Amino acid sequence: MILRARAIVTMDGPPIENGAVAIEGNRIIAVGRSEDVAVPAGETVLDLGEVALLPGLINAHCHLDYSMMRNAISRPKSFTAWVQRINALKRSLDNDDYLAAIRRGFAELRKWGTTSVCNIEAFPELMPHLAPSPLRTWWFYEMIDIRHRITSDDVVAGALAFFQHRENSLDSSGLSPHAPYTASLALYQLANTCGDAFAMPLTTHVAESREEFAMFRDAAGPLHDFMSALQRPMGDCGRTTPFAHLWQSGAINGRWLLAHMNELTDDDFALLASVPRDSLPSIVHCPGSLRYFQHTPFPYRRLHDLGVNLCLGTDSLASTRTLSLFEELRSLAKTDPWLTPEQLLRTVTVHPARALRRRGQLGQITPGALADLIALPASGDLATVYEEVIQHDQPIAWTMIDGQVLA
Ligand SMILES: [Zn+2]
Repeated sequence: MILRARAIVTMDGPPIENGAVAIEGNRIIAVGRSEDVAVPAGETVLDLGEVALLPGLINAHCHLDYSMMRNAISRPKSFTAWVQRINALKRSLDNDDYLAAIRRGFAELRKWGTTSVCNIEAFPELMPHLAPSPLRTWWFYEMIDIRHRITSDDVVAGALAFFQHRENSLDSSGLSPHAPYTASLALYQLANTCGDAFAMPLTTHVAESREEFAMFRDAAGPLHDFMSALQRPMGDCGRTTPFAHLWQSGAINGRWLLAHMNELTDDDFALLASVPRDSLPSIVHCPGSLRYFQHTPFPYRRLHDLGVNLCLGTDSLASTRTLSLFEELRSLAKTDPWLTPEQLLRTVTVHPARALRRRGQLGQITPGALADLIALPASGDLATVYEEVIQHDQPIAWTMIDGQVLA
């Protein structure tokens, strides 16, 4: 198939005016100006018209399980109060509720141009009941060992299903120890061992809230008291920051995607600065969720200047109002107006592709890449095309995933 478009935003060099993309199976085999892309006899040519064609967006942090919780929890007085509220809500829901939530979340992601998602899955027992994913999905198995989890047959069956290779599907798996306050260092080490053995990506929440920070550095605050009441061993508190706690113990390293990282000290930055650039972890910023919780502003510029690979995620609808990465991009543009529209777009394309070790395969329109593409109306003026993409606020009308045009 040959796709033609007024502008092609490849994320692999400057945008192309009046361009064409040749696709064979699920891969892009050529991209260039229309007259330079050969059309074999009998090949289907689809002219998309006055649009910008760009790589499908990649959401680097999401919890589809909670897609029924939009506006369900009003802004909490504390992060800990929110954790307690969502735990109570979770107890009131059953498997069918979660399956419906995951379907709804997928539909919303797709509506806003996301073709790949890193989804943290808290309920592995749902896996056998899930239809094939409509989007390219990394299912990160959420791991918590604050207290011993009572493992049911359902959970074991789900865990096994989680890691079964699904032939011809868009699914991949990963591991996610939840956060340093809910997962032990031993659990992080187990994740590292499995991640190495099975080449799986790893992600975790770290340094998200002031309360997590106070728990680790000062052995104080609402989260400390809550975790202590749950009989979490608290001997790791009162020493250092959440990030230093994980990094210095070797629990996390450059292969990890770290969600949030809002609460960092100068010592944390010094620690990051001591790491060779190609061994730095990737970091996922969730602007809508940060605003909801009123966390400390995300230190985008300092991390950028250190050479950190920065990605965007939405987090779940329990702490943000939309799964649209376009909205997240506009939020980031407001807090960090120094970023160019092209730099912004990299946070939902090439950067998360690199974090997932899919550089050249995702997030770019380049020969050999997977054919995950979206189109949105554009004037065709290459000088403003990135800005037009960032400002796009309508549902995406045309999407291709794995070489298939979605109906
Ligand atoms: Zn999260």
